[in-house]
Amino acid sequence: MRRPVIAGNWKMYKTQAETRAYFAALAPLVAGSTHCDIVVAPPFTALAAAVEAAKGTSISIAAQNMHWETEGAFTGEISAGMLLEAGCRAVIIAHSERRQFFGETDERANKKVKAALAAGLTPLLCVGESLAEREGKKTEEVLERQFRGGVAALTSAEFSRIILAYEPVWAIGTGRTATPEMAAEAHQFLRQLAAAAFTPERADMLRILYGGSVKPDNIKGLMAQVEIDGALVGGASLKAEAFASIVNF
Ligand code: PEP
Repeated sequence: MRRPVIAGNWKMYKTQAETRAYFAALAPLVAGSTHCDIVVAPPFTALAAAVEAAKGTSISIAAQNMHWETEGAFTGEISAGMLLEAGCRAVIIAHSERRQFFGETDERANKKVKAALAAGLTPLLCVGESLAEREGKKTEEVLERQFRGGVAALTSAEFSRIILAYEPVWAIGTGRTATPEMAAEAHQFLRQLAAAAFTPERADMLRILYGGSVKPDNIKGLMAQVEIDGALVGGASLKAEAFASIVNF
């Protein structure tokens, strides 16, 4: 039985004051929500405020990106160790916006996954095809390349500590959601890849989240699919009430 995860990705939204107000609203709404892991990923500048505000709740804080080196002359970058020290428990890696706008490659994603694991963070590795790739019937090819690239050279024990997010690029921030069946099909394919790369047992334990315009009114249908182990939520995670109702699907 895989424990569901509902994760919110705030992207480049919210100041520290807005972060404190958000957690004050969210905490009571999810106080009794023991059925899933709850994760919120604020921008770097709001991490400390989020960690402080989430104390005493079951909400974990994640970062949205990191560098793979532990330290060095990498202006503007943050290491996994720094995130851990700031109170993060997880980190989103290779979100499609980073792949699209910031040159994230599978090779870099893989270095980040390994560095996150080495530091004791849970990597939340994102994969997903663009609309052109889906229409060109390349979905499986893209997922296979991103999955294999992202988890390359991980040991089976390391692989057991990652979370995968299937986020079709055409569904992110567009209001266009993959149907639960489409998402489940992609998840099943990813699980087969995991079984081939590691073991069927590891694949069976892998938590695969769906992301792409998840809202309070479509989460139930998505979570009804056995293949879908949770959601990575962008826009709808910005309002505490909406995110709470997704958590409490
Ligand atoms: C995301 O940012 O990962 C995401 C899925 O965004 P949205 O829910 O807004 O589509």
